[in-house]
Amino acid sequence: MTVQTTSLKGPDLLGEIERLKRERNAVILAHYYQKPEIQDLADFVGDSLDLSRKAAATDADVIAFCGVRFMAETAKILSPEKTVILPDMDAGCSLEDSCPPDQFAAFRAAHPDHIALTYINCSAAVKALSDVIVTSSSAKIILDQIPKDQKIIFGPDRHLGGYLARHTGRDMLLWPGICIVHQAFSETELLKLKAEHPDAPVAAHPECPPHIIDHADHVGSTRSILDFALSSPAQTILVATEPHIIHQMEKAAPGKLFIGVPGGDGNCNCNMCPYMALNTLEKLYVALRDLKPRIELSPEVMERARVPLERMLEMAGRTVGQGDVGMPIIEDKDDGVPPGEIDPRISGD
Ligand code: SF4
Repeated sequence: MTVQTTSLKGPDLLGEIERLKRERNAVILAHYYQKPEIQDLADFVGDSLDLSRKAAATDADVIAFCGVRFMAETAKILSPEKTVILPDMDAGCSLEDSCPPDQFAAFRAAHPDHIALTYINCSAAVKALSDVIVTSSSAKIILDQIPKDQKIIFGPDRHLGGYLARHTGRDMLLWPGICIVHQAFSETELLKLKAEHPDAPVAAHPECPPHIIDHADHVGSTRSILDFALSSPAQTILVATEPHIIHQMEKAAPGKLFIGVPGGDGNCNCNMCPYMALNTLEKLYVALRDLKPRIELSPEVMERARVPLERMLEMAGRTVGQGDVGMPIIEDKDDGVPPGEIDPRISGD
């Protein structure tokens, strides 16, 4: 896809983005995995559902979503009357790519006695084929409300599904998708870091594979990892999620040391999301100027996708994306927190 760009730089570019934002009555959203310069100019920085809900609550006409396509689609589903733009329409997601709607529909048809519990990291078309959407923070409380004898398909992230299955004892059919970023973390590099920083706790996202989760002191959503890093008395934290979240940690706690767990052999950038990296300030400027690339979804898909999203909000007690304070979420890997009780390690969307 050809992406328009601009020769504007530095303060001129920032000033033009600000001017266009006012002119368009736009709200700028930045996911935690965006580059620091994008996070710093956004109106809201956060997890995807949290951002979409905040944008829906504004009177903005335009949502400029600096994140990936499925996130911008969720914003459109929750704000169908607003124009939603994404700086680079090629900003996809390996989880979304792993789960084409036609294959998901065929899988569902082959298992008619199963309901589909689907992680929010999927296309609008797959959401429309699902019964309940979950976030990493709401998945367990929703799972706990589903009768034990109900058969379940969980997709598209097999690591999140596997984590839930291990900690709830639920036998779910797992779609074989992965996040290429969380999959890339190296256990060897993590063990080296732990040896160098023996007092540093490890905070990991449940999209990580079990060999990373097994070393974690805290397992939870991006937001909960941020909360954990800030509230922990430890001065050094090892962070096993996309490292651009560290920008918010350093801003809030400049005296602490936050170390991103490396991927591969420790020398690659494979712990950074290549899709998120496609967004730039220049592309954001052009998107605000031209009001494209724009998220376009059929009314039917939006209508059908909104149903499992709203079901999630109902089942999660409408606390999803608001810090989830007081919600029982995903259990600790070894603490045996029973269903219905709060796992203090995990909160947020
Ligand atoms: S970090 Fe992983 S799950 Fe998130 S957008 Fe990138 S590929 Fe998708």
